[in-house]
Amino acid sequence: MYSVTPMRKLVLFDIDGTLISDNGASREAFALSLADVYGFRGDLRRYDFSGRTDPQIVRMILHDDARTDADIDSQLPHFWQHYLGGLARNAPGRVRMLPGIRALLDAVCAGEHLTVALLTGNIEPGARLKLGAIGLSDTFAFGAFGSDSPRREELPPIAVTRAADQTGHSFDGGDVIIIGDSIYDVRCGIPHGATTIAIASGKTSAETLRAENPDHFFESAEDVKGIIAAIMG
Ligand SMILES: [Mg+2]
Repeated sequence: MYSVTPMRKLVLFDIDGTLISDNGASREAFALSLADVYGFRGDLRRYDFSGRTDPQIVRMILHDDARTDADIDSQLPHFWQHYLGGLARNAPGRVRMLPGIRALLDAVCAGEHLTVALLTGNIEPGARLKLGAIGLSDTFAFGAFGSDSPRREELPPIAVTRAADQTGHSFDGGDVIIIGDSIYDVRCGIPHGATTIAIASGKTSAETLRAENPDHFFESAEDVKGIIAAIMG
């Protein structure tokens, strides 16, 4: 048996720090909603959100404030509604595409054997608000989101299942590429045999990212040729 066509690949992009910077739009929406819904008055500046899913961010902060899961859960639907309202107000005008991303997405989307999707800790409506603010939402027909699981390591198989539903192609772990700016983007791909590409365009230092041993490392997405070569393997 042999194949005459190159292997189809699934390219999964993280959002914050990878495709975009929201310049504090979601952090402010979190702060306002935590205060209004849970009465939280603490300082969010000591928390690093990089690579955390939205549900993890909420629990990380409120557990530190001695809130129980039962207390958190009872207000969670209201919290998300409030948060999305804040994000809808904040995102337009604040979200910016990161350097190199426009050219990288153009190149990836033009790739005949590449399927492009999201793998992000954002709940899906939050992801859509952020990307929609710069006209990028339609580039990603599907993905796996923080609203699918609070555990990032559970998101790659969800993305693969959705990719099969959308394309009719079943992707093997070795056909999956995960691109992100945090140590958790790298870590979530390893158990699934995905190729990991770390880009130091977010809040995590190049040194910290390199220490996770991603398959490929880039300082920024401006090295489009290098990243495309890494994707094509
Ligand atoms: Mg990120």
